[in-house]
This record gives sequence, structure tokens and C-alpha cells, in this order.
Amino acid sequence: MADGKTYTLLDGRKVATEIKKEIAAKVKALKSQGKKEPHLAIILVGDDGASSTYVDGKVKACTEVGFHFSLMRFATTISESRLIKHIEQINNDDDIDGFIVQLPLPEHISVVRITEKIRADKDVDGFTNHNFGSIVSKNPLLLPATPNGVMELLRRYNIDTVGRHCVMVGASRIAGAPLSMMLAEQGQATVTICHKYTKDLASHTRMADILLVAVGKPGLITADMVKDGVVVIDIGISRVPDKAKDSGFSIRGDVDFNGVAPKSSFITPVPGGIGPMTIASLLMNTLKAAEQRKH
Ligand code: NAP
Repeated sequence: MADGKTYTLLDGRKVATEIKKEIAAKVKALKSQGKKEPHLAIILVGDDGASSTYVDGKVKACTEVGFHFSLMRFATTISESRLIKHIEQINNDDDIDGFIVQLPLPEHISVVRITEKIRADKDVDGFTNHNFGSIVSKNPLLLPATPNGVMELLRRYNIDTVGRHCVMVGASRIAGAPLSMMLAEQGQATVTICHKYTKDLASHTRMADILLVAVGKPGLITADMVKDGVVVIDIGISRVPDKAKDSGFSIRGDVDFNGVAPKSSFITPVPGGIGPMTIASLLMNTLKAAEQRKH
């Protein structure tokens, strides 16, 4: 490569910008047919700094593509039953095409109970059991946003997954579990799933043609844990103290980028990799939900 790098950066920010342009054009077309623009609602409980930053990013993205958005903020003290009442109202609000409940929620509120109250055809994060299960059906519905963002990034860089060995490190409900299913179902890959009970993690990660990591432990994957030519997808986002930054922290992924990048063929940066793709994926789901509601 001209700049001396041996690897290609999987530039999620650039791809997300392309996707947003495509969505903006579709919104324009909808409006020119006399239809309304898609409407995304976001529920934010409490004042967690990271959550507010993520929500700001989502609101900005809605504005960029011409979606209507509603931000509904509630105090940390809101009860679970009261939050459910608001969710039921949104479920029945004909103007809202899709909505998300920003995680994490305060400890007294059950994420599982809240998620299952969201109407599946408005669940644009793709968290409900209905949408999660549709991954393995012939007719996938609203696919989980982060995994779908990963699959879209692989597609846009023409990275073939068919028959390749994908090793997924992390098996959470929002990232690792659905992504491993999507890689096997849509990607027709051979998939190994690793989690915190996996013995000798490195013996698995070294086998990976495509290594995907969603754990939340900065620098967990080091150069000695990957083979030459590996494709690396780093989903992890952690704030680590950094006195050099005005904010007092910097954002790190689960992969030791400087060590691993020279051995890889393709690698995502953090930030600027899967984060922007997750937002793009949320917008794609909202557009899909709106189109299916046929306003
Ligand atoms: P999570 O719910 O805490 O899940 C972490 C997963 O990692 C679990 O499956 C856990 O195993 C596994 N794990 C923990 N320690 C491990 C180890 N030493 N080796 C292998 N696996 C290990 O977290 P999450 O919600 O999936 O998030 C993971 C990371 O991705 C976080 O940094 C989060 O901020 C980031 N994230 C980013 C985006 C994005 O848009 N880029 C979206 C979602 C999440 P067990 O299942 O056995 O507990």
C-alpha cells in the first residue's frame, strides 16, 4: 500500500456516511410521493454520560437523513411500570415508526421485561425475541442493529464469509450471540463462539479467518493471538482514563490495534469502525419499519 500499511482500514465512518446519503435520497423520494418522513423515537432514562453521547449521535444522524425524531427523557427514579406505560403509548402512536430504549437502564428496571414490551415491528434495535429469532428464518425482520452493521460493513468491503472460519469472542444478547447466528445463517460461515468460560482463548482466535470481538475489555486481543492475514472486527468500546484528553478519557476497543493491525488484512479502527455502522443500521431499520407501515 502507498502509505506503507499492509492492511486496509475498514472505515465504518466513511461507509456510514454513504449509507446515510442513500437513506436521505429515499426519504426525499418518499416525501415527493406525498408520504411522511420516517419517525424515530428514543427513550433515555437517567443522565449517564456515555448514553447521552450515543443518543446525541443518533439524533444528529436522524437530522442528517431527514427523519423526524422524538427524544423522551425520564429521570433515573422512574418506575418500571411507569416506563412500560410510556412504551405502550409509543406502541400505539401511529405517527412513530420505530423506537429504541437506550441501554443501560437503572438497576431497578428489567431490560428483558422492558424489551419484550416493545412492539416487534417498531423494534428498530432488533432486541425483541421476535426479531432475534427471525435471524434464523427465511424472512428476517428487523435485525439487531450492531450485528447488522457489522454484516453491512463486510458486504461493502466485499469480504466474503462463505465457508470461512469466523471466531466470535463475546456472546452477549445484543452483539456476540446474534452476530454469530447471522454469520452462520446469512454469511454461511463456520462459526466458533467464545465467552468468558472458554479455555485457552488464543487457541481459538489463532484459527480465525475473520475475528470478531465484543467483550468490553480494552486490548484483550494481542498480536500473538491472531494469524497473518486475519480480518479483524472490533466491536468493543471502553472509556479509559487519559490525562491528555480534555474529556479525561479516550475510547479503546477490545483489540490492541497497533500490535494486531500489521498482521491483519482488514481491521476496524476504534472509534470510527462499528460505532458509526450501528447508527447507520438503526437508520436502515427505521426506514424499513416505516416502509412496512406504508404511510
Ligand atoms: P456484555 O453484555 O458484557 O457481554 C460481554 C461478552 O463477553 C459476554 O458474552 C462475556 O461472556 C464475554 N466475555 C467476558 N470476558 C471475556 C473474556 N475474557 N474472554 C472471552 N469472552 C469474554 O457486553 P456487550 O453489551 O456485548 O458489549 C461488549 C462491548 O461491545 C462493550 O465494550 C460495548 O461497549 C461494545 N458495544 C459496542 C457497540 C457498537 O455500536 N460499537 C454496540 C454494542 C456493544 P459471558 O457470556 O460468559 O458472560
